[in-house]
Amino acid sequence: MELLDRKTCFRALQSRDARFDGRVFVGVTSTGIYCRPICPSRPPKFENCRFFASAAAAQEAGFRPCLRCRPEIAPDLAFWRGTANTVSRALALIAEGALDEDEAGVEALAERMGVGGRQLRRLFKQHLGASPIAVAQTRRVLFAKQLLHDTHLPMAEVAMSAGFGSVRRFNETFRDLFDRPPSALRRKGGVDNSARDGVTLRLAYRPPYDWPGMLAALAARATPGTEWIEDDVWHRSIELDGKRGTVAVAHLPARNSVMVTIRFASVKALPVLVARIRRVFDLGADIATIGSHLARDPRLAPLVARRPGLRAPGDWERDTMVVGIDDDTPRAWRPWHAYAMQHLRMANHG
Ligand SMILES: [Zn+2]
Repeated sequence: MELLDRKTCFRALQSRDARFDGRVFVGVTSTGIYCRPICPSRPPKFENCRFFASAAAAQEAGFRPCLRCRPEIAPDLAFWRGTANTVSRALALIAEGALDEDEAGVEALAERMGVGGRQLRRLFKQHLGASPIAVAQTRRVLFAKQLLHDTHLPMAEVAMSAGFGSVRRFNETFRDLFDRPPSALRRKGGVDNSARDGVTLRLAYRPPYDWPGMLAALAARATPGTEWIEDDVWHRSIELDGKRGTVAVAHLPARNSVMVTIRFASVKALPVLVARIRRVFDLGADIATIGSHLARDPRLAPLVARRPGLRAPGDWERDTMVVGIDDDTPRAWRPWHAYAMQHLRMANHG
């Protein structure tokens, strides 16, 4: 991800420009806090701003996440397939906990990608401005923070589902970062509610999002009895490591988000399930960049204009795109190709 120049970033911050949300994070040197460009707090002075391409880069530089704008719910653009393929695949594995148990695991992760550890670190630095370890640590903290704000999961379940080895480690991390225990960040009121009874989370995207187009594409390929759509809500029954459950995804257009309800017995699976939902609904797509790229083709331009925000649905089981990709498609083209195919298909269906 290319970091924009400081002046552009600062203007985005002054105007709380949502187009920069997820692309830029700002660390404020006078407070030690990092924010999204849309933060409702009073904008800091230019000379106190440091700009970062990812939350992990801000956190690695010693800033802690803002409690007002909540960097944990910024659209997660880093996953998008337009990023170097190796980085996207490594991010997917990190989201599934690849670096949670063993912090010396970068070499093993690199090996799974078919590159060396040094090469993987270099790619992460280039695209995210942070090391793989910092990305994994930030992911744990931010996911735990979201669970604390948005759910009433018991503390032990928050710690486990976010990939902390123990409640003690979870407490220490939060005390180091926020000078207070995780319970202090908890939403007030309500009673504890185990993940077994369902966890509801909000996942943001960067607008526009063609929700009817996405549901139509998902309906067209749904496996009967496993996946279904009812009242504009997508449902899927899931099976993971021999356990069964369900997920449901609804649209929250006013908040540029989807609302996800997961019912599954194992809290440790939460990050995996969230990552899969992001993939199926293509939540990390940088749709403005994709649109402008596709619009360079005179045949696609009118279709893109007619269906802005059309996304390419991902597959639940595998990290591949469903639409029109085969092994002969050059790698660098694949994201664009998938979107072009999606636009052409929707055009053919009226
Ligand atoms: Zn903020």
